Amino acid sequence: MKIIALEPIPILVPLKQGLTTKTAHGEHIDSPYVLLKVHTDAGLVGLGEATLAPRWSGETSPGCVAVLRDVLAPAVIGADPRDVRDIGLRVGKALRLNPFAKAAVEMACWDLAGKASGLPVYRLLGGRVRAAVPMKMVVGAFDVPRAVALAKRFLDGGTRHLKVKVGLDPTQDIERVRAVRELAGPEITIGIDANCGWSPATARRVLQELQAFDILFAEQPVGTDDPRALAEVRAATTIPIMADESVFTPQQALEIVRLGAADILAVYPGKNAGISGSLAIAEIAAAAGLCCSMGSNLELGIATAAMLHLAVACPTIDSESYPGDLLGPLYHEADMITERLTLGPELALAPEGPGLGVELDEDQVERFRDRSQP
Ligand SMILES: [Mg+2]
Repeated sequence: MKIIALEPIPILVPLKQGLTTKTAHGEHIDSPYVLLKVHTDAGLVGLGEATLAPRWSGETSPGCVAVLRDVLAPAVIGADPRDVRDIGLRVGKALRLNPFAKAAVEMACWDLAGKASGLPVYRLLGGRVRAAVPMKMVVGAFDVPRAVALAKRFLDGGTRHLKVKVGLDPTQDIERVRAVRELAGPEITIGIDANCGWSPATARRVLQELQAFDILFAEQPVGTDDPRALAEVRAATTIPIMADESVFTPQQALEIVRLGAADILAVYPGKNAGISGSLAIAEIAAAAGLCCSMGSNLELGIATAAMLHLAVACPTIDSESYPGDLLGPLYHEADMITERLTLGPELALAPEGPGLGVELDEDQVERFRDRSQP
């Protein structure tokens, strides 16, 4: 089987009303993503998805379309998509950075490898280590009444694990977390995510105060320029520190380990240039005695399916201790696939069909295609 063409499809999908989100990186109201069809000479089509956010990875939707068409297509056309490692090498040699574009190609090749063999991707990754994946929902960095209303909506729906976005005004951050803890009671786990928003001094002070609210983890309290600052913040708190924006690559994971800068590494295929990249980081974490947690860039159905196959197959992505962000489709008006994934309220399931186990919904593609692009 050989790859004969890459077909990028730019889409623009709004978040559901009331579920637009807000972090220290800004507001997220709609998702300018790129879906990818990888066509083969066997007639099989592999599906990928690039969840692009300029403030996150520096990638844009038009840039991703151009990269897929002009740079990555020539690098993989003629290759056998079942040689997923070889595809990863080709893509890595052809282009620096751009992890989300690379991940779209890689996940489409896992999809093809699975479809060609009749096996779900998690089987190709070594099989299951868990039947289902505990998951959490995310409360944006809104004012207290709106944050509490959102948390109540999730808890009323059966959610057991929450992440609260912080990293803007420290006083309001503390009030938001306090209010959500008061609403949730002691049984619900609550983590926080500052998305690089605090200075090291603010992070040390705020985490000291937040220790009173039984916080499961503190994600990316400070920025990414100096991982030693993250290590200093970690040394000043009893709350486990999760590195997210600091860990796109295995090399960065190794640096975090060397510096003792985190307890948990957030991984997901988009950020890590593919499932293989997430697994490489998970191996580093395991060897260092750390664990990983499944992060998210608010994926739609295809990329969430890739996350689910990874999540059930990788023991180091410890969703029992740190529930995963397997939630993107729940926040969007459409998931772009024909059959909804099983997501929550407590557990998410990997699809059982061959490959990623999802099919593209062509009606949704027509409805949400980004026609502002040529
Ligand atoms: Mg995060």
